[in-house]
Amino acid sequence: MVTNISMVVRKALENGFQIEPKAFEIIKGLEEKDVNVRKFIQEVMEKKIVDECERRITEQDMSSILSLLGEDQGVLTEKVEIKTKVVIKKIERTQLLEGKEGFESLFKSRYNKLMMLVHSRPDHFYIETISSVKNNRGKGRRKISGLVMSKRLRRKNAVLTLDDNTGILETLAVDKRIIDKVREILLDSFVIVDIEFSGRDTAIIKSINPPDIPEQSLTLSKEKVYTVFTSDLHVGSKNFLNESFKKFIDWLGRKGKDKSIVSRIKYLIIAGDAVDGVGIYPGQETDLEELDVKKQYSKLAHLLADIPKSIQIFIIPGNHDPVGQALPQPPIPRKYAEDLYRLSNVTMLGNPVYIRLHDVNVLIYHGRSLDDVMAAIPGFTFARPAVAMKTLLRARHLAPIYGERTALAPEIEDNLVIEQIPSIFHSGHIHTLDSENYKGTLILNSGCWQAQTPYQAKMGIRPTPGIVPIVDLTNLEVFTRDFR
Ligand code: FE
Ligand code: ZN
Repeated sequence: MVTNISMVVRKALENGFQIEPKAFEIIKGLEEKDVNVRKFIQEVMEKKIVDECERRITEQDMSSILSLLGEDQGVLTEKVEIKTKVVIKKIERTQLLEGKEGFESLFKSRYNKLMMLVHSRPDHFYIETISSVKNNRGKGRRKISGLVMSKRLRRKNAVLTLDDNTGILETLAVDKRIIDKVREILLDSFVIVDIEFSGRDTAIIKSINPPDIPEQSLTLSKEKVYTVFTSDLHVGSKNFLNESFKKFIDWLGRKGKDKSIVSRIKYLIIAGDAVDGVGIYPGQETDLEELDVKKQYSKLAHLLADIPKSIQIFIIPGNHDPVGQALPQPPIPRKYAEDLYRLSNVTMLGNPVYIRLHDVNVLIYHGRSLDDVMAAIPGFTFARPAVAMKTLLRARHLAPIYGERTALAPEIEDNLVIEQIPSIFHSGHIHTLDSENYKGTLILNSGCWQAQTPYQAKMGIRPTPGIVPIVDLTNLEVFTRDFR
């Protein structure tokens, strides 16, 4: 087939696209080759329209086409052989203390870790302790920090109580802009607050901020490698989409389209709720197809066994897996999932965990606390889990809210503080595919493989099963494939 350049250019112009000169050179270079450039340009344009990108065909677009051609059309005969490059940083429980004492040390550690984290920033040098501002209620703006012990939103103001290990201070927000910011502050999270004492000794909030992450340039992979992110398979549930999942496995086995992309997939992450489990909620038996949790894992292992061994699979537990629910969770025990442990390309990890894949730092966390974040902040919905994930990232903590649905282990050290900034922050649990880029970090919620359950229907939750996000580790761009 000979490419008719004028047709390609005309199609592009018709769709309002510009072709960069360098990209045009590459298109010209392909003229005599036996490839359908027009079809590829068409696909690039369609993707950009769907993703609402700038309507411009760049040299970079063309390079991805060249690599596609290399595999599918035989223009380039380069054989893809990529070695996996993995560094795992486990988050293990530190010593557990009993009850009240345990939680006291957990919160102390939380405060200290986050204080260390923000203190190195130039504008945070002058954070005063609560005891010192209470002893000297001088005029002018003062900067304090603390964990939010209570938050009361009222019609015309908001009251926030802060604790910084030296004392407790009640602060008041009166300005509408500040009240709106207080609304998005999570209970038990760390905040930096500027206050000014009013005439009646009330500490008025002048500004309030979570620790947040700075704008950053993150390390990316130099090699063209893709990672597939998924979660919430719920194998064993009557609603598990077995056929769709098999199509996905076939695709990973290069039995379908996208061979050149699939040959560069090196990692598959499963962020919890691998199986539906048993006894997770009252009356679950009626929703289960398989009532034995070991058999649920055997079935999953059987499915995953068909994935090429060149793809490394990482599995963490969720709230449906048979592991203690308090965070951090250990890996799914071998006694339940023997068949998974036997697969040579499967690594079982705890929840949460950091993994560096081809130099890209990935934080994987099932996402139980997203329920609490969504319940706590008005306007947050199951349709946009990435927004709630962003709130956690800005709070620099995976599960700040204590005493709601998310159980925390009473540890000596708080291991859920997000000390390292991830390049990719991956969660599941909400069953809705969603992603967002925040200051260079890709926030990704990976959907599910379970069709809407009667419970979700009742709650008005509309999951997005069978759609899988794939991330290019050279630029953190996300694209999806739909296997429904
Ligand atoms: Fe789930
Ligand atoms: Zn879950």
